[in-house]
Amino acid sequence: MRDSTQREIDYLRISVTDRCNLRCVYCMPEDGVPCLAHSDILSYETIIRLCRVFASLGVSKIKLTGGEPLVRRGLPHLVEQLKAIDGIRSVTLTTNGVLLEEQLPDLICAGLNGVNISLDTLDPARFHTITRRDALPRVLAGLRAALAADGLNVKLNCVPTLENQSDWVPLAALSQDSRLAVRFIELMPVGLGASLQRQDEAQVRAVLEAVFGPMQPTAGPSGNGPCRYFRPEGFTGSIGFISALTHTFCRRCNRVRLTANGFLKTCLQYETGVALRPLLEQGAEDDALRRAILDAVRDKPAHHHFAEGGRQLSHMNEVGG
Ligand code: SAM
Ligand code: SF4
Repeated sequence: MRDSTQREIDYLRISVTDRCNLRCVYCMPEDGVPCLAHSDILSYETIIRLCRVFASLGVSKIKLTGGEPLVRRGLPHLVEQLKAIDGIRSVTLTTNGVLLEEQLPDLICAGLNGVNISLDTLDPARFHTITRRDALPRVLAGLRAALAADGLNVKLNCVPTLENQSDWVPLAALSQDSRLAVRFIELMPVGLGASLQRQDEAQVRAVLEAVFGPMQPTAGPSGNGPCRYFRPEGFTGSIGFISALTHTFCRRCNRVRLTANGFLKTCLQYETGVALRPLLEQGAEDDALRRAILDAVRDKPAHHHFAEGGRQLSHMNEVGG
């Protein structure tokens, strides 16, 4: 399916829960946010039905996110069912990694294609400052397990801030001798992210190049989107930048987002989209869902306005990143 600016939309990010076992300072307040009632969260059966409809409209790649997707029980079952849908080529996961080691075998059996692990520091004290929990050893165990899994596409996502400046080099170095892609994602003024000071791609790059030497553009691992990959000499893996503010990629945006309570969000910044849940509750047939999705996608905003001071008030755990 295409929007009114002729961008092809083939990638759906699904937030399967707004709950999380961490409290990252740029994402969730310390004492949490009022969570959706279980009855308001789309059931797996409903998600699978909607994904069949999305697949019939050309969506071929699905990312499961949250909140923390691994806190929702039975995720491997969802992965397996999504992989069985005609037209769905790839199902991947974005996770904080805390519960990954124990769930990875079942996820792999279910056909998971890739995992993105969010990790901003290798220092236990700083991990606690950023996430307000002590879980670094479990995240590292999850990362090791993922890298040991044959054929699984593994990426590490770091949000660079003033607080973790001294971690950029050690994190990037993880890709020196392994097939890992370490990606730096510019902080966006979404929810609590608006109150922290962003560190731009250029700042991160200068620090990395001072240590590793010049980085050459490279193809990087297969992926869904806007990351630009580089490889310093001698590296096995790659270093990526997703820079929504300093290298805006809206013109190539290929994605829409489904929130845990069934709102189809067509742009990260704006509330534009359609609430699919009421349609489902009214017993809408697949054709009616297809029409609602196509109408919403047609009106997808052409670009965000973060760089001009635009904000998104929703917390990132509701939107899924
Ligand atoms: N809990 C999972 C995780 O942390 O990977 C999935 C959901 S989380 C909202 C998805 C991604 O969004 C994480 O990589 C996180 O670092 C990133 N994120 C959260 N708030 C952000 C912000 N304001 N700007 C940029 N990235 C953000
Ligand atoms: Fe949880 Fe992910 Fe948000 Fe951190 S970024 S609080 S892990 S949802």
